[in-house]
Parts: sequence; structure tokens; C-alpha cells
Amino acid sequence: MKAQVLHSYDPEMKQDVWVKEEEVPNPKLEKASDVIVKIGAAGVCRTDLHVIEGEWRHIQDPDDKLLPCVMGHENAGWIEEVGSDVEGFKKGDSVILHPIISGTNGTCLSCRKGLDTHAENGIFPGLNVKEGGYSELLKTSVRNLIKIPNTLTPKDVAPFSDAGLTAYRVAKKATRHLLPGENCVVIGAGGLGHIAIQCLKAMCAANIIIVEKSETALKHAMPLGGDHGVLIDGNEVERVMELTKGLGAEAVIDMVGEKGSTSMGLSMTKNTGSYYIVGYGEDIKIKSVDMIISERNIIGNLIGTWSELYELMELANKDLVRLSMQEYKLSEANKALHDLNNGLVKGRAVLVP
Ligand code: ZN
Repeated sequence: MKAQVLHSYDPEMKQDVWVKEEEVPNPKLEKASDVIVKIGAAGVCRTDLHVIEGEWRHIQDPDDKLLPCVMGHENAGWIEEVGSDVEGFKKGDSVILHPIISGTNGTCLSCRKGLDTHAENGIFPGLNVKEGGYSELLKTSVRNLIKIPNTLTPKDVAPFSDAGLTAYRVAKKATRHLLPGENCVVIGAGGLGHIAIQCLKAMCAANIIIVEKSETALKHAMPLGGDHGVLIDGNEVERVMELTKGLGAEAVIDMVGEKGSTSMGLSMTKNTGSYYIVGYGEDIKIKSVDMIISERNIIGNLIGTWSELYELMELANKDLVRLSMQEYKLSEANKALHDLNNGLVKGRAVLVP
């Protein structure tokens, strides 16, 4: 099969070619619970850029053995082949893949609690193993599959399996406490942000304030559920304070997490409110005394559970959450990655084999 293979890290992010199209062996069923999926679309994620620049290297590749590897952790497609224990799925079914494969076949305590994201020895295709979705076929486990509603195709939903799922999970956490009349700031209205805004809109009646540095992205995101749009121009904290009666927002969801956005986000968080960190790159700095006096919460967010992916599919099926997408052929993986790196992708890029 064809795959786009990453051979070396590029800390400077200056190379013209990051991945190469190559012929690699087809995946084979090994466990009876294995399923081979014919990729219909693979999302191109900012995490892939972080992989290329080596930011994940100390975590996913401490022994320097990962490369060459195939990226792509946001995958959907059609079932090609199922292992002997697989029930309820057959060749041709269209499915989305929960991204983390349990290392215990779902029998460890985390998995029993539904937290496969914290599974023992979990693997993350496209991130910490050699196989990923920038290819024609991918092996997963039956435990990871969710059937795609008839109203949608793999290409409509692939990035939901990570970007969408992360956005959904954080929006769901915030909507558990956000009441009508309260405020929720979303920093960054790109790939994750534009999905979170729709999830918030679908699940609560709080005011949604979108804070974004690109005028185009802000314009694109406002009709998805924004009540107020604030451009990052140096006065954004003052603007949010004006909109929240000088108090800040009950929830701030930070999709950026770098270049100063964490201190900006914390400044926008009301006393007793919650700052949800999703994007990453810089350290969060806050004096412990400030944390105590303000009683603010800082909450980390990692993807979401299988059942949350199911819930998100239901929102998509009702057309309450729709993905803005830019389509590239698998052979154009380099262009998609560079476009993303250069801020030229509207919504989410997907690779279609
Ligand atoms: Zn991703």
C-alpha cells in the first residue's frame, strides 16, 4: 500500500519535504480483535507538525527508534477485514477510529472506567508507533470503532477522532457548569476552536466570546455560535473585561497554549472560574498566592473517551456540529502540512487516499 513516511525530524521546520510517499507492507490481522480499515480520510493535525519538529521526541521516541514512521492519528474509513472475534462489524461498514488502542484489550482499570485514553500500555497510531493514517490501510481494534451515521461519510468526520473529540470533551466539561448569563471565552477559532464553539452552542446557553488573532478565522467562526468576537490586537484582555462586567469569564478555553496565550487566558478567567488548557507549547506561570486568592481552576484536557466520540457523532448527525474542511490527496501530504504550518488551512485539512 501507499503511505507518506516521515524519515527525519526537522527542529527548524525549514525543509521542503517532510514526508515521502512510499510503498509499504499492508497491515495484517494479528489479534482476534483486530480490524483493518481502508482509510477514507486522515486529519492533518498541528500535533503532526510538533512531531516533525521533534517536540514529542522525548515522550514518543526516547530511544530514537520510532523513525521512519507514518503519521496520521485522526482516521475514518471503511472496514476491510475483521479478526475472528469481531462481532457487529463487517467489511464495508463506514467507521471512525478512537485514536488510542488499549494495551490490555480494555481490561485495565482505566479502560473499565471508560478512560482508554489512560489505558495501560496504550498505543496511539500516527504518534507513538510506526503505523498511522497517512496511508491506505490501518490496523486498529474493534474496541476503537464507532459506526458513522448514514448522513455522514468518513471524509466528513475523520478529524473528529482527535481534534473534534478534544474540542467536544473540553466543551462538555465547561457546559457542566456554565449557566445562562455566564460567559465562556474560546481562545483560538481554528481547527479545534471552530468545533468547540459549535459544541458549546449546542449544549449550553452561556455567552460565547471568541478571541482570535486572525480576522479571517474570527469572521469564519462567529456565525458558528459566537456572541462576541475579540481580535487579538493588544487590547483583548480589556475587551473581554468590558464584555464580562470587569470580572472575567466563568470558563476560558485556550486552544493555543503558546506565545503568551496562557497568561492572557488566565487574565480573562473570573475568580472561581476555570481555565481549560488544550493547546500547548509554553509553561503556565501563576503565583500560588494568586491561585489561592482567586480560587481559579486550571484544567488539563486530553482527547476524549469512546463514549464522548459517540456523543460527538450524534451532534454531527443532527447537523449541530459541522467540520470546516480542506481536502488534499494523500500524495499532497507535504503541501497539507506546509499549508497548515503557514496558516493557510481553513478549518481542518484532511488527506484522502
Ligand atoms: Zn490531532
